[in-house]
Amino acid sequence: GTRSYSFMLRTKNPCGKVSNKLYRVMDDLADEFGIGTLRLTTRQTFQLHGVLKKDLKTVMSTIIKNMGSTLGACGDLNRNVLAPAAPYAQKDYLFAQRTAEDIAALLTPQSGFYYDMWVDGEKILSAEPPEVVKALNDNSHGTNFPDSQEPIYGTQFLPRKFKVAVTVPTDNSVDIFTNDIGVVVVSDADGEPQGFNIYVGGGMGRTHRIETTFPRLAEPLGYVPKEDILYAVKAIVVTQRENGRRDDRKYSRMKYLLSSWGIEKFRTVVEQYYGKKFEPCHELPEWEFKSYLGWHEQGDGGLFCGLHVDNGRVKGTMKKTLREIIEKYNLNVRITPNQNIILCDIRQAWKRQITTALAQGGLLQPSYVEPLNLTAMACPAFPLCPLAITEAERGIPDILKRVRALFEKIGLKYSESIVIRVTGCPNGCARPYMAELGLVGDGPNSYQIWLGGTPNQTSLAKPFKDKVKLQDLEKVLEPVFYYWKHRRLSKESFGDFTIRTGTEKLQELVDKWE
Ligand code: SF4
Repeated sequence: GTRSYSFMLRTKNPCGKVSNKLYRVMDDLADEFGIGTLRLTTRQTFQLHGVLKKDLKTVMSTIIKNMGSTLGACGDLNRNVLAPAAPYAQKDYLFAQRTAEDIAALLTPQSGFYYDMWVDGEKILSAEPPEVVKALNDNSHGTNFPDSQEPIYGTQFLPRKFKVAVTVPTDNSVDIFTNDIGVVVVSDADGEPQGFNIYVGGGMGRTHRIETTFPRLAEPLGYVPKEDILYAVKAIVVTQRENGRRDDRKYSRMKYLLSSWGIEKFRTVVEQYYGKKFEPCHELPEWEFKSYLGWHEQGDGGLFCGLHVDNGRVKGTMKKTLREIIEKYNLNVRITPNQNIILCDIRQAWKRQITTALAQGGLLQPSYVEPLNLTAMACPAFPLCPLAITEAERGIPDILKRVRALFEKIGLKYSESIVIRVTGCPNGCARPYMAELGLVGDGPNSYQIWLGGTPNQTSLAKPFKDKVKLQDLEKVLEPVFYYWKHRRLSKESFGDFTIRTGTEKLQELVDKWE
């Protein structure tokens, strides 16, 4: 039958940058060949769901024609490189974005046999290695990379997918510690970028009931001067390529190499390829979660406006309103790692009209978004993801309503919020292990509950209760919220409270609750 094949297509957009033209193309393709909705992902890309096999070639070649050769990767190689989506004209933001683009180029397979794309015997894409990367392919910089046709991926690609994020100090909009490599721009007192702190070994995915699989936070590897960053990234990737486990996919992410070797040994091996020693990481200020919602100055005379998108699903009136505004003012957009959208390069003179158009479409910040929703995320799960065990995107609206009802019952204020993330399986695409309240599908209508992430995404949550049936959510959550309200320190976040109290004590309180 015609509906027997359906594809999810990912695009690649370093820093979540989407040109005006690409946005219009994706918006049209969603209507013409998809299910009429656009999905913004936690890796700042588009997903197009429900494309039939017979239409795949048309859709792919349309995307490729409209964005150059940047079709997103899904295999065991680098995924979209994250960087702050805010179009600030500040030096460090621009440098972070440029670095993300360079790393994306570096980690694109350089030999034709992988990058050429064939559909039904017809070549629809072929690509050349980018210039920035060609320069890295000999060892004249003092590095010690093995000789290879495919300088990054060798003969066998990586053992698993690979995730990289770049950001600036304080801006943790990218969930920096959940990546295989996290890169942070370090600037001097005049705001001039000088180098980078590098963190390694983060990752979310795990397998239920196998304790030897786990989510992990990236840890400090060291500091490099800015001109060395691509060599350092390449040295890390080559270390994983040569040493990451290939016998069992469950253990093949770089975090398992880090946890089996320890950071000291890992650093020594990377330094051998890199050809230098890393300096110690520079001290950085506290991380913050930045949503960029609402109106902001870009710093170059233009404005940008961040809009919340529930679970990244652009549909209905929102889709129509966005399309009209984006088309009328010829705006470029950016996708945030929290699945929201930013309208960029808006002239001061357009602000009033755009505000009116957004209000008419019901998209005006922040009144239309319930505070819990602002930081909540869910993965697509049913019916779109073949790995899903239970609901996530379709289930989260009801879960948020029930959490809100509990807050009201207990007397927590409307403005009070916690980071809630829900996924349909332990793979953890919506990064539930960094949430203050994470729900990870572990059976039909059943979730493992994780507690202990923080509002700025710097702490790893811990498993709290297994196999909580959806209908029993209140039984577990009411006591925990109750004690948060009554025993919290002044302004203590839910995450900090659960960390301070400890999961054992909390479990005791839940068990005693009448
Ligand atoms: Fe699919 Fe699991 Fe990822 Fe959700 S977390 S999108 S169910 S793989």
